[in-house]
Amino acid sequence: MYSEQFSLQTYNTFGLDVTTHAFFEYSDMQKCIDFFRAQRYKKPIFILGGGSNVLFTKDFPGTIIHPNNKGIRIVDETQETVFVSVAAGEVWDDFVAWVVEHNFYGIENLSLIPGSVGASAVQNIGAYGVEAKDFIHEVVFYDADTDEMRSFSNEECAFGYRSSFFKRRHDALLCISHLVFALSKKEKYFLEYGNIKDVLPDSTSLSLIQVRNAILFIRETKLPNPEFIGNAGSFFKNPVVTKDKADKIREKFPHMVSFPVSETEVKIAAGWLLDELGCKTFRVGDAAVHEKQALVLINLGHACGNDFVRLAERIIQHVNSKVGIELEPEVIFL
Ligand SMILES: Cc1cc2nc3c(=O)[nH]c(=O)nc-3n(C[C@H](O)[C@H](O)[C@H](O)COP(=O)(O)OP(=O)(O)OC[C@H]3O[C@@H](n4cnc5c(N)ncnc54)[C@H](O)[C@@H]3O)c2cc1C
Repeated sequence: MYSEQFSLQTYNTFGLDVTTHAFFEYSDMQKCIDFFRAQRYKKPIFILGGGSNVLFTKDFPGTIIHPNNKGIRIVDETQETVFVSVAAGEVWDDFVAWVVEHNFYGIENLSLIPGSVGASAVQNIGAYGVEAKDFIHEVVFYDADTDEMRSFSNEECAFGYRSSFFKRRHDALLCISHLVFALSKKEKYFLEYGNIKDVLPDSTSLSLIQVRNAILFIRETKLPNPEFIGNAGSFFKNPVVTKDKADKIREKFPHMVSFPVSETEVKIAAGWLLDELGCKTFRVGDAAVHEKQALVLINLGHACGNDFVRLAERIIQHVNSKVGIELEPEVIFL
């Protein structure tokens, strides 16, 4: 499907009322390749999945490419591992539900993260002690600059915290076609993070669906649903600072929430930081800080992209002046 002057209001989870000069959606990878080869597009080009990690600061002047290819299938297995190929246009949580239903272990803690399967590799999504990179075996993509299908192993994807080769090269036209996940056939849970154990039923035997339900419950009570309140999840990354700096901040704030990253570095919970430094009351126009979770910026109804830009600037400046940390947005500004 190709349209011009297309509204993106339902294609970004902030619910911002913006348009794009052109919009191209495909359900078949070959159509995507043909589109690039025909060069019918107007630049700039942006590949948009569920729009749950982007902030449109204005109308988009070029072409939005929206992958909508579907399909999940088992491509290989060993005694312990199953390899599942999944199309980039699948909804991430539909895929997690499928995996849990088939009794494969690994990504259940990533339940209910909004967005598409393709973006899970770009973003290296993570939650409750698990990251997509721990289970991504292969990423297959179309490189429109060289007009070839390419395949990257896990190592080649160069995953980092909410980052990957694909994220760092967002200027290149790399359109992910599908991913292959390596999942465990053997029972194995990750329950140490946060309060997962507290919400699991008291029983000696545990099932995948119980763990998924626990995650759904925690997320639904903690995070605003973008269907009702526009938001893009965590707006800022958790800052990583030197241990010395973290110790200094802890002297002033003894209850600081932080996690060791290495012998010399510490990750500070950005949500705690914003809460502690009084950012919850900050608001610019209809862009505000969520009352329950300070790391989430929300659209109270009629915010525009620029309201969020100004709110983010105010928060960054405030945090910097109080503790000397420069917060970095996780959300992509367009
Ligand atoms: C309520 C809420 C909660 C959230 N919780 C979490 C969380 O717990 N953990 C977490 O990690 N994230 C979380 N997020 C952020 C978001 O869900 C993820 O970043 C998600 O992976 C974005 O998926 P998307 O399809 O919406 O990507 P988009 O926002 O559309 O795009 C993100 C990036 O992926 C690229 N991209 C998308 N599809 C493709 C493709 N097929 N080929 C190449 N590039 C592509 C885009 O160009 C862009 O660079 C949350 C968001 C919300 C709204």
